[in-house]
Amino acid sequence: MFTVLIPDCVDAPCVPEEDVFTGRARIVAPHVHDAQALDRAIWGSADAVLAWHEVQFDATVIDWLERCRVIVRVGVGFDNVDLAAAGRRGIPVCNVPDYGTHDVADHAIALYLSIARRIVAYDEVTRSGRWQWACRPQLPRRISESTVGVIGLGRIGTATARRFTGFGARVVFYDPYKEDGYDKALSLERAESLQELLARADAVSLHVPLTDETRGLVSHSFVRGMKPGALLVNTARGKTVDLDALDEGLRSGPIEAAALDVLPAEPPDPTHPLIAAWRQRAPWLSGRLVITPHVAFYNAESLEEMRHKAASEALRVLEGHAPRNCVNRRYLTG
Ligand code: NAD
Repeated sequence: MFTVLIPDCVDAPCVPEEDVFTGRARIVAPHVHDAQALDRAIWGSADAVLAWHEVQFDATVIDWLERCRVIVRVGVGFDNVDLAAAGRRGIPVCNVPDYGTHDVADHAIALYLSIARRIVAYDEVTRSGRWQWACRPQLPRRISESTVGVIGLGRIGTATARRFTGFGARVVFYDPYKEDGYDKALSLERAESLQELLARADAVSLHVPLTDETRGLVSHSFVRGMKPGALLVNTARGKTVDLDALDEGLRSGPIEAAALDVLPAEPPDPTHPLIAAWRQRAPWLSGRLVITPHVAFYNAESLEEMRHKAASEALRVLEGHAPRNCVNRRYLTG
């Protein structure tokens, strides 16, 4: 019988995981918020780990995993796991890449529509007792005459781009890691540089992973390169956006409105000037900043799928098969 450790986020009984592991593995789910809170012997006894997002798997914690044969991130992003450290120990790190592809793309579109069609601004106007079309200075947009810039044409970026084309929008993407041909296969336009995309896009939607390269991607120079009146949507990772730069872009232009599902700090830092203005419903920001609490992926079906697939990937490796979604192959030795 294997031992599978699920250190954070979920409480026993772990129904989707039990469904996969019954008779083959024992589940240990202590629900801690950081690695230090768990006895070293428990880390050492795990044959596999299902990692949510609260515990940081740095090199020290990975060293504690004396008999671990696989770490599976219960989700897409894996920036809380030191891939190289796991690789050095011969531990494959896997993720669940597809459980929320449609859901996050849907949410990106919903956020875009909420600012492009001024849903939130109109809700505020109507709630205050007015019944009027003019929502000045920001009027609703005609989507079919808009150009949308998708940054990161992976799974979610592609699903989002396809949805945008369904609205009749022109989609231009920037992804230097995609080989030629995706533009033709998907009938999209490729921007050769970030600057080109920013100069063309009426709205920008972020779908990149968080890496050293994408941390702070939306910087002051990024914002200053955007078109006047541009919209920004972020469902990727909060740290891809420098909040100071977004603040400047919303206060003094060129950004007309932004919609964020993810923030550099979650929950957001209430002392940041932009977050403070949003919370206090500052008139200058009215209807121009929409924030949802990292829920793009979230619904009953996606959670079930994510947990089931994470457990199945762990079991696959424990039973001697190759992992399907290994994200640290380049670091695995031997
Ligand atoms: P993916 O790996 O399929 O796609 C990412 C794409 O970004 C790849 O095509 C890659 O080439 C590209 N890329 C990498 N660096 C780039 C750069 N510097 N500039 C431009 N493109 C770059 O990932 P995915 O499954 O589509 O996920 C995308 C993002 O969505 C991730 O950040 C993930 O963490 C996030 N996500 C958010 C939620 C949520 O609930 N908000 C849920 C799931 C995933």
